[in-house]
Amino acid sequence: MYKRVLLKLSGEALMGQKQFGIDNDRLAEYAKDIKELYDEKIEIAIVIGGGNIFRGVQAAEGGMDRTQGDYMGMLATMINSMALQAALEKEGIYTRLQSAIEMKEIAEPFIKRRAVRHLEKRRVVIFGAGTGSPYFTTDSAAALRAIEVEADVILKGTRVDGIYSDDPEKNPNATKFENLTFEDAYSQGLNVMDLTAFTLCRENNVPVIVFDMNKKGNLKKVVMGEKIGTLVTV
Ligand code: UDP
Repeated sequence: MYKRVLLKLSGEALMGQKQFGIDNDRLAEYAKDIKELYDEKIEIAIVIGGGNIFRGVQAAEGGMDRTQGDYMGMLATMINSMALQAALEKEGIYTRLQSAIEMKEIAEPFIKRRAVRHLEKRRVVIFGAGTGSPYFTTDSAAALRAIEVEADVILKGTRVDGIYSDDPEKNPNATKFENLTFEDAYSQGLNVMDLTAFTLCRENNVPVIVFDMNKKGNLKKVVMGEKIGTLVTV
């Protein structure tokens, strides 16, 4: 069982059946899943993406200045973070939102020691606005914050149930890995996280579990140590 976890959710996961934005039913389901961990007294930090609202790279492809687009992407993560915060509070969970970009009316600034204190007091801490810097992703933010608050593991909740040898939707012979080393994942070109995030985890010995967050009860099972998804370790 893990004691302190960092849960990474992609922005796209929040879309549910929708093409854009936030699906309230999905959000409420995630909040219930997180409540199960909260009730087990697991310390929970969360980083959420913004891809359901805005992505800097795509804006840059359309001709926008990349840095501008990335800051807009970081603001998108704040919208998702606030939505998740509201959904968690509805479940009776105590939360704090910390932002990497100062927005003092809606979030605390990111302060590592304060974040750790919140976790110790069993408040769910959501880290918004990614790393606060353009040219990064929220996977990198998840890796960075996990290292900073000394989380035991990064739980990467996705729509697939782990890491496969090939794209399972295209190749019926693709096989799922239960365990992988960072070395193997790298040499086989497997997609765990972007390389910046991947390297941070590898160099700082933070295990990553990629699992299907959309299957009810999975989140708790993963934290309790059931072999679900793919575990990547040094
Ligand atoms: N972003 C950024 N720096 C960060 C984190 C995010 O510039 O540290 C921007 C970037 O433009 C990215 C967008 O925010 O495309 C949304 O984040 P991400 O793509 O990681 O979201 P996800 O894919 O998890 O939904």
